Amino acid sequence: QTPTAELQALDAAHHMHPFTDAEGLEAKGARVITRAEGVWLQDSEGHRILDGMAGLWCMNIGYGRDSLAEVAARQMKELPYYNTFFQTTHVPVIALSAKLAELAPGDLNNVFFASSGSEANDTNLRLVRRYWQCKGQPERRIVIGRKNGYHGSTMAGASLGGMGGMHVHGGGIIDGIEHINQPNWWSDGGDMSPEDFGLARAKELEDKILEVGPENVAAFIGEPVQGAGGVIVAPDTYWPEIQRIVDKYGILLIADEVICGFGRTGEWFGSTTVGIKPDIMTIAKGLSSGYIPIGGSIVSDEIAQTVGAQGDFNHGYTYSGHPVAAAVALENLRIMEEENLVSYVKNDIGPYLAEKWHSLADHPMVGETKIVGLMASLALTPNKETRASFASDEGTIGFMTRERCFANDLIMRHVGDRMIIAPPLVITREEVDELIVRARKSLDEAYEQVKE
Ligand code: PLP
Repeated sequence: QTPTAELQALDAAHHMHPFTDAEGLEAKGARVITRAEGVWLQDSEGHRILDGMAGLWCMNIGYGRDSLAEVAARQMKELPYYNTFFQTTHVPVIALSAKLAELAPGDLNNVFFASSGSEANDTNLRLVRRYWQCKGQPERRIVIGRKNGYHGSTMAGASLGGMGGMHVHGGGIIDGIEHINQPNWWSDGGDMSPEDFGLARAKELEDKILEVGPENVAAFIGEPVQGAGGVIVAPDTYWPEIQRIVDKYGILLIADEVICGFGRTGEWFGSTTVGIKPDIMTIAKGLSSGYIPIGGSIVSDEIAQTVGAQGDFNHGYTYSGHPVAAAVALENLRIMEEENLVSYVKNDIGPYLAEKWHSLADHPMVGETKIVGLMASLALTPNKETRASFASDEGTIGFMTRERCFANDLIMRHVGDRMIIAPPLVITREEVDELIVRARKSLDEAYEQVKE
């Protein structure tokens, strides 16, 4: 057995993979990733792979940054751990909270830390219900999410999210959570204009609020740009209408910024990109560029003061505000600022990728192409006019294309028949060119297999 085959056999014997196609794993074994630098991964067979997904949408500053390792080592020697329960705190968590308050829009000045986006959304569910209890309206406990939204894999995360398959596998969802449709014009818009469709989908929020009773609704949660649902960019009319509706009924707005946050959309936060004013933002991923697990909720002054800014909320994780994670996140944010990565996405590499990405629309099976900042999707279709999907086996063409990308040493993900990318924010123009060459080649190869 080769060293790779040995590793794969051990992996198959003992490692339970998250979200992995079991058949593919059994047939081919898992690809063993050994090193990474910039936007490039290396596997145990020596392949250099272009990471078009920034890991899981998180590696914003790119792989191989020594200073993050140095900061982590220094912090581990000085204070590897202490908690922030029971009136204690420490310098990294203080500095990171203040920095996030400075970066976040409006009066989002208060941070409750977790170790992941899922945990942070658990916090949010409990926090909004606690908020309404403190306001003397404990019946306000329903949170409305969206179909195909993704908010994590904990019980609350999976329930707030609208992935049907996840609801089934977990044995249903927890009580007090409702879902409305996603604003996916390409698949659901029919004959409507994108503008009318955006309004119609936003109106579903009002319908749902009236159905369950406004006095029972605590919050609405959504990703400014739906990520794992297929990089679904809502029509321009959508978010202003959502904001109007939550304002009208006095419902809290939670923006899940786990993917959109920290430069991905060309602003520090996707909420600014789509023009909404959330009461809570969920953060993770790009906060530390994936170098260390950390997430959190950035919360308005009103909510923080109502539930008790000094910790009068029976909630917390052993690793809330972990000093090493906080120090690494701070260093990550320092690099993002020093290198002007947010404006690089907005004014330079984002527009460059957009032009190249839209050029793929001339491919015979590429329909809609969408991009915001450095998150992009394209819809695969046998008929661009009718926007048909490769119907009976929806997802298959996406899977085949993803496999061709894999074979061509490009990581591109598929969600049903949409292909998506979200490369590290540091990607260069030459690397974008390379990404597009490999994507087109993979599309060609997949198309060869399905045409006729
Ligand atoms: N929210 C969004 C929008 C996400 O995309 C994710 C993960 O992909 C999560 C929450 C969950 O974050 P985590 O995997 O860190 O728990």
